[in-house]
Amino acid sequence: MYSLKRNAMKNGIDIILENSVDLIFIFDSKGIITNASKSVQKVLGYSEKDLVGKEFIDFIYPTDILAYNRNLKEVFAGKELSDITTRCLSSTGKLICLNWSLGLITDSRKIIGIARDITESKIFNEEKSEQNLRLQNIMDHSPDLIWSVDRELRLIQGNKAFIQTLKRINNWNVQTGDFLLSTEYFSEEYIQFWSTQYSKALAGKKVTLEINAEDSNENPNTYFETKINPIKEDGEIIRLACFSRDITEKKLAEKKIQELNQRLIKGQEISKVGYWETDLKNNTVFWSQEMYNIWGIKNTSKKIPFDFFFASIHPDDRQNFLYHRNRALTKEKDLDIVYRIKLSDDTIKYIHEIGERVISIKDNKQVFRGTAQEVTREKETEIQLKDRNLFIESTLNSLPIGIAVIKISDGEPTYMNEAFEKIYGWPKEDLIEAESFFNKVYPDPNYRETIKKNIIEDIQSGDLARMIWKGVEITTKTGEKKIVNAKNIPVPELNLIISTVTDDTERSLAENELKEMNERYKLVSEATNDAIWDWDIQKNIHFWGDGFSKLFGVDLNAKKNSPEEWSSRIHSDDKDRVLKFLEDLLMDPSRNDFRIEYRFYRSSGSYAEVLDTGKIIRDKSGKAMRLVGAVQDITERKEYEKSLQNLNETLQKANRELELSNKELEQFAYVASHDLQEPLRMISSFLGLIEKKYNGQLDEKGKRYIHFAVDGAKRMRQIIMDLLEFSQLDRILESKDWVSSKEIVSTAMLFQKKNIESKDAQIHLDSLPEIYGHRNSLIQLFQNLISNSLKYQEPTQLPEIWIGGKELDNEWEFFVKDNGIGIENEYLEKIFIMFQRLHTQETYSGTGIGLAICKKIVEIHQGEIWVTSQPGNGSTFYFTLKKPKIQ
Ligand code: ADP
Repeated sequence: MYSLKRNAMKNGIDIILENSVDLIFIFDSKGIITNASKSVQKVLGYSEKDLVGKEFIDFIYPTDILAYNRNLKEVFAGKELSDITTRCLSSTGKLICLNWSLGLITDSRKIIGIARDITESKIFNEEKSEQNLRLQNIMDHSPDLIWSVDRELRLIQGNKAFIQTLKRINNWNVQTGDFLLSTEYFSEEYIQFWSTQYSKALAGKKVTLEINAEDSNENPNTYFETKINPIKEDGEIIRLACFSRDITEKKLAEKKIQELNQRLIKGQEISKVGYWETDLKNNTVFWSQEMYNIWGIKNTSKKIPFDFFFASIHPDDRQNFLYHRNRALTKEKDLDIVYRIKLSDDTIKYIHEIGERVISIKDNKQVFRGTAQEVTREKETEIQLKDRNLFIESTLNSLPIGIAVIKISDGEPTYMNEAFEKIYGWPKEDLIEAESFFNKVYPDPNYRETIKKNIIEDIQSGDLARMIWKGVEITTKTGEKKIVNAKNIPVPELNLIISTVTDDTERSLAENELKEMNERYKLVSEATNDAIWDWDIQKNIHFWGDGFSKLFGVDLNAKKNSPEEWSSRIHSDDKDRVLKFLEDLLMDPSRNDFRIEYRFYRSSGSYAEVLDTGKIIRDKSGKAMRLVGAVQDITERKEYEKSLQNLNETLQKANRELELSNKELEQFAYVASHDLQEPLRMISSFLGLIEKKYNGQLDEKGKRYIHFAVDGAKRMRQIIMDLLEFSQLDRILESKDWVSSKEIVSTAMLFQKKNIESKDAQIHLDSLPEIYGHRNSLIQLFQNLISNSLKYQEPTQLPEIWIGGKELDNEWEFFVKDNGIGIENEYLEKIFIMFQRLHTQETYSGTGIGLAICKKIVEIHQGEIWVTSQPGNGSTFYFTLKKPKIQ
């Protein structure tokens, strides 16, 4: 169904396209013609094949294309356009003016254009008359004389140049309608001549004249080319269009050419340039005599067949020759080629040939013509020169010196070797132009300006010595900094400067480093208190720094630069040892460190103790080349060391003595307490016996005395026991260990259990940390403190005790606090001294050793013990125990 309808449609369109008077076009979305009515073919003069499938703009007059494209776009955007004028070119080149309506065929994205040919219409004619105006305008601006006359030779129209010329030469204000050959203005002869020419034209002939206006009073030798053309209308000649141009220059040029031609022919003979001309139709060549001469063949006056000529070309050059000849024949490029020919005697000649395809003026035929010249000598010299240049260039390129050859006149380099680019680190293109060279190589504007200024001034000075620039800092493309030395060598007779450059970076760096090192060395030698020296072993020169003058009073100005001066100052007792050490060291390539102490002579007469240290610098073979070092005055240090040693010895002695006396004391205490026990026991037991046996006989007094005696013995025993214990504290055999202070406190309390219970005392325990120490002695410590807290109480008071401890940074701190009688301020320290008691036996019994034992135990643990108290308000005993270094 659909296809049927489409077919019907198609037929309908075809019929319209076939018969429409209007021009109907259908374009696709790209502006390509898909259909064109018969009328289109008729008006534009193209066949359907020429039109369909082509872009319509191919047919549009160029100045109208832009507007047409714009219109097309608008139509695609959905606009309907009408009354658009577009000019097209017909197949015969005629301008056809079309008046259009354009619109979109909605369902197929195509455009239908319906146009009417209005070329002949009024609008177009109006344009034409406008064109006439333009033409008149152009004519008036033409330097040529343009005029037209009617059959009666009356002026119809003349351009400005024509009218002005008549005015100037004949003082005639010619007007339209004036008879041109008036006797009033022209001679008989002139009128005769011109009337003949006009008559010829009126008879239908196109007249072309060349007039030498010799008689003209203005320019006696002026040439005019004049054309008179008959204009017909309806087969009748109705007027003459005349045109006259001043061809004086052309004429003179022609004359010159003629002369030149003469000279050329002569020149050909002299310069041995041959002329040839190829007849392209029959492929033959005309040769001038010189061609025969070059080719070494006889002139037979016959034309040379091209094949003969081609065979004479060296086989290796034939292909190239054909290629260039074809390019010249197709007018792509005129012939200009050098090729070799091989003569019958095998001689090789180089020919330089130039040629072009032109239309001969003679017969309007295409000819290919040119000249040939033998250039064998030049070519050979050129080859030699090339070889030489190649040699020079490769030599220059392999040089490590950068070379550029620069024209003095414009500063442009004519040559640059590879090293030049490499050293500056920029490609040639960046270095060629002076401005770019400076900008790139010296990116820092300040530095650039200074360098530029210096270089320009130096060059201008003409002083050769100033053409060398050392230590110039340049920057490469990669931003690397380099130090270069540059030198310019002017060769004015060749208008050249040879600019050379060498990379001095490494040497300069090394030099700088050396300089810096020397400066550092100088600074160090100035700053140090040591005497610095440098011994060039090979040259046997001894350099001494200022230190020798400062330390040893050496007069450096009067110094002889020899090592003997050094050895002569060494103390005679040390000299052999020092020199032997040095000698051994120098001989042993595996050792480089010189270090020895000796006594060195001061100019003031005394000897200094010195430490001399140095390093050997050896060459590759291990030979000692240099020895560099410093002498240090260590007299004071030595003396200090000595006094320290003395002190140490004294101390050690005192220590030993102390140790001895301590030991003796302990021994004594031990022995004394041991040995005292026995008689004391005897006293007690005999007193007991007396009491028992004589109980009935003793009166109260006697009984009391015995009781005192027994009590005294008991106390004495206690003192002895306590002393014994104290004396044994230093000999704790038990090792330190981690123990719980809580456990220690409870053990101590266990020992005091009876005491606590009998006194109805209360004990409060605070936190008790894990500690490190001698377990048994710590139990003793707590036991003593607890027992004191229980003891030193008002009789009516129920004792209360607080015990606790905490961990600090470097130690543990404990306290034992009571609500007892307290201690007067002045006794706070004394009570830790042995036998120091504040009360009588009657009030509070004791030996006065308990706290001394406590103190000793704390000291064994590297701690401290102290007490705070307010009399009547209880006391708090504190002590610390040092923590072990590594827990
Ligand atoms: P002793 O208790 O055997 O006299 P110590 O060396 O233990 O000997 O004590 C020395 C003295 O310090 C005591 O005599 C006492 O005067 C005083 N003292 C010790 N502990 C306390 C305490 N908790 N309260 C008051 N005074 C004390």
